[in-house]
Amino acid sequence: MNISWRITAAIAAALFPLLVSSVDDGQAAVARRAARAIKPPAPEPCDPRRFKIILDVGHTSESQGATSARNDVEFGFNLQLAKLIGERLKAAGFAATRVLVTDGKARASLLKRVGTANDAHADFFLSIHHDSVPDKMLETWEFDGAKSYFSDRFSGHSLFVSERNPRFAASLAFAKLLGRELKEKGLQYAGQYALPVMGRYRHELLDKDVGVYRYDGLVVLSQTRSAAVLLEAGSIINRDEEMAMNSPERRELIATAVVTAMRSYCERR
Ligand SMILES: [Zn+2]
Repeated sequence: MNISWRITAAIAAALFPLLVSSVDDGQAAVARRAARAIKPPAPEPCDPRRFKIILDVGHTSESQGATSARNDVEFGFNLQLAKLIGERLKAAGFAATRVLVTDGKARASLLKRVGTANDAHADFFLSIHHDSVPDKMLETWEFDGAKSYFSDRFSGHSLFVSERNPRFAASLAFAKLLGRELKEKGLQYAGQYALPVMGRYRHELLDKDVGVYRYDGLVVLSQTRSAAVLLEAGSIINRDEEMAMNSPERRELIATAVVTAMRSYCERR
């Protein structure tokens, strides 16, 4: 009895999808309407005044990221650039922009960033970083009387998005817009992330025209509920590019590119 019931139940379970797919058109329409009803609503049109942008300053004062060719820390570069981008976005009408500075140890700070963005119901998350190279590529020189490290082999900015982000398509769309702006201002993206020499730092190049890479494992990109993009603004281990990244002109250029890209992104939503 028990066994035959189980068999009957198993047959019914196997048949269930077939039965559902053979309902008449009227019932199918009802099912389709019900499916539509539970779909999440489309994002609301973008009103710049209410569009919550979080500018995430990469790393913390305790865990400061890469060290530049002249022994400055990445956290300082990130903070200065993010603050300027924040000012320019606000001046352009994106009044709900916030510069997010996080404290604590590296790993814990990543989860804090994501928690802050998700709790705030952010509409966009842009993480600001400056780039270096894998340790094996470092060369030594003397700067300010101290043994220091550099690599002039690579330069350029790069943009990263995660396919695990629930708003991957929107993230990619913004990254492409920003990449386009930077290209039109004469900047060349960092092509090395597509090369085998980068080993575990190698990434799939999603847009070879403007330098957008896929980086699924990044916590700040994959666990944020809003669209999210990470910008490596330029290399600070490259001696010439470090000087450029330290200049007000370059910071202004990047901030302008972000504002223009955000305006286009907002208009297209
Ligand atoms: Zn970084």
